[in-house]
Amino acid sequence: MITTQLPQGINPLSPEQAQQFAQLAGTLSPIQQAWISGFLAATAQGSALSAPLSAPVAEAAPLTILYGSQTGNAKHVAADLEAAAKGRGMDVCLIDMADYKPAKLKDEKFLTIVVSTYGEGEPPEPAEKLHAFLASKKAPNLENTQVAVLGIGDSSYEYFCQTAIDFEDRLSKLGAKVVVEAALLDVDYDDHTEGWIGRALDIFEPELKASASAPGGNVVPLPGVAVAAPVSQYSKKNPFAAEISVVQKITGRDSSKDVRHIEISLEGSDLTYQAGDALGVYFHNDAAEVEEVLELLGIDGTSEAKLGDDTKPIRDLLIEDLELTQSYPTFAEKYGNLTGDEALIKLAEDKVLLRDFLEPRQIYDILREHPQKIQPQQLVDCLRKMQPRLYSIASSQSEVEDEVHLTVGVVEWDGFERSHLGGCSGHLGRRAEDGDSLRVFVESNDNFRLPANADTPIIMVGPGTGIAPFRSFLQEREAQEAEGKNWLFFGNPHFTQDFLYQVELQGYLKSGLLTKLDVAFSRDQKEKIYVQDRIREQGAELFQWLENGAHFYICGDANRMAKDVFAALIDVCKEYGGMDQDAAEGYIENLKDQKRYQRDVY
Ligand code: NAP
Repeated sequence: MITTQLPQGINPLSPEQAQQFAQLAGTLSPIQQAWISGFLAATAQGSALSAPLSAPVAEAAPLTILYGSQTGNAKHVAADLEAAAKGRGMDVCLIDMADYKPAKLKDEKFLTIVVSTYGEGEPPEPAEKLHAFLASKKAPNLENTQVAVLGIGDSSYEYFCQTAIDFEDRLSKLGAKVVVEAALLDVDYDDHTEGWIGRALDIFEPELKASASAPGGNVVPLPGVAVAAPVSQYSKKNPFAAEISVVQKITGRDSSKDVRHIEISLEGSDLTYQAGDALGVYFHNDAAEVEEVLELLGIDGTSEAKLGDDTKPIRDLLIEDLELTQSYPTFAEKYGNLTGDEALIKLAEDKVLLRDFLEPRQIYDILREHPQKIQPQQLVDCLRKMQPRLYSIASSQSEVEDEVHLTVGVVEWDGFERSHLGGCSGHLGRRAEDGDSLRVFVESNDNFRLPANADTPIIMVGPGTGIAPFRSFLQEREAQEAEGKNWLFFGNPHFTQDFLYQVELQGYLKSGLLTKLDVAFSRDQKEKIYVQDRIREQGAELFQWLENGAHFYICGDANRMAKDVFAALIDVCKEYGGMDQDAAEGYIENLKDQKRYQRDVY
């Protein structure tokens, strides 16, 4: 409890401070005083953030909301849940799973899990540790825990919402009582979260309040790691209409890849970003493809249709608001049932066949292969809303101020008698022109950040367009005049065609900002050479950097590269750290715990 009667012999406050303090203390309840006292004690020990998150001063428990988010969606839903619970006067503790000590679980009474699923049914990176802990022998008995789980996934993937299913399954096997049916939500999750949050809170609220008013039950959570409140008025739900200022091809004429450097002006917005963040982009579908679809289906483009609360000409809805490139099972099912198309109806009955059918096709292909005359609203009802695409930001605001830069690889392939372009990369890389407007928002990523201490060395592994956030890191380190050493590993097929940002990087090497630059041009010689080969070659020095406190970052392809780089790092630890496999894995686990091994991969 705060008191202005300070212990004798200690007189840390000036008379003005003492007066302000007395005024403040007079306005606070005993619980608020206890909270502040705990907070100040923890801060004085320099441990406010490393204190057990949510450890209650008294016995009762808050509603703990644990989120595991890859691209920010689960984080936003968790923040909505927190706001709704606070709105009901409940004590809430919102924590990123990456910052949560699994040993705390046994103390949780009221728990909600909000988690996405990533890749082929895998947990998002920040959820990995807790997910594994729950399946391990160390997992505690959770008979006193009530739990509710909300999962976000994408039904075009086979293991839809698998991580949420795993969490619920594992928690209930440990004895936790599932109090609300899990919500397993698709990419249109936004339309369904409010209802589930209401149902979950209806159950938790009376129990939590009853437990808080029980003797000794006042809840005083210590400060946890809060989600940085978005300061901008612009967000995924309210994107900013930015202007594209530069679209420049940065691969050579003979390259097998078309990579574009894009500059976008944020002028007129209050959007800010940090190195490591991503930019969410709502793109435009190809107007010519849309025209063809309208013709095929016998639809007049000016006829109006409704999407949510919006009514617009169907042509505009198809260009601006609906998904026409990435195909997904519910489209094939709905369109097949609507049109009575036997082939699609049959396909929809076999999940494996359906996935094989959808994988290489865009929605355009399916409509071309199965054209039927339908009404505008019927088409809209078969389609789902366009999901923004996220790109790792390739600039630092310290350098470019109100601009944001992206490094975009144009996705393109031939098949089904037409050439295909990725929805967003096709728009940005091929159709967009300087001066065009583009709806964007910033998606923060606290799990991919430069070290707080600018003297700390960093090692960055970013082959292909995975270079993007490291351009941002380097600009930021230069602006900070950071003393820490910077080492970059970059790879791409050919030196002459695919050395992205070559002039800048070589300039940084010359100026000394880049301490080391190791490149792996995979196809310039008979044998493939990849970044992980360079890592192994430089193993002794790299291990020394890690021993000296370096942070290690990977960005780019998740499926193969990131796994191979991890394996190379294990080899380096074994060879130069004298470790066996378990010790090497433990060494990297430890780096992860210290936030010194961070990945931005997909
Ligand atoms: P890429 O396909 O990853 O190719 C870059 C270089 O990596 C090439 O030289 C390639 O060699 C080589 N490579 C192939 N297999 C590898 C492996 N197992 N280990 C290490 N290197 C390997 O480049 P990209 O086309 O620019 O695509 C980058 C990838 O990263 C994409 O999957 C993209 O989705 C992802 N990405 C993610 C982010 C993010 O924000 N998380 C940002 C950018 C990119 P060969 O082709 O000669 O075999």
